[in-house]
Amino acid sequence: MAYKISDACIACGACASECPVEAISEGNGKYEIDADKCIDCGTCAETCPVGAPEQA
Ligand code: SF4
Ligand code: SF4
Repeated sequence: MAYKISDACIACGACASECPVEAISEGNGKYEIDADKCIDCGTCAETCPVGAPEQA
């Protein structure tokens, strides 16, 4: 299991610096989570102002 960032993402970057395993990087117009790195901690979902990270 891993989190995924939905199209609601406004590319603010807040989640990327909070991820403990650096699984989040800037993608094409929004941020993306590397599912192989994500440890499912939920910090990105708590940090995001628009609720874009969702549990897949
Ligand atoms: Fe990083 Fe945790 Fe979000 Fe996975 S759930 S991308 S490990 S902050
Ligand atoms: Fe996108 Fe939310 Fe991450 Fe900001 S915190 S880059 S809006 S997923």
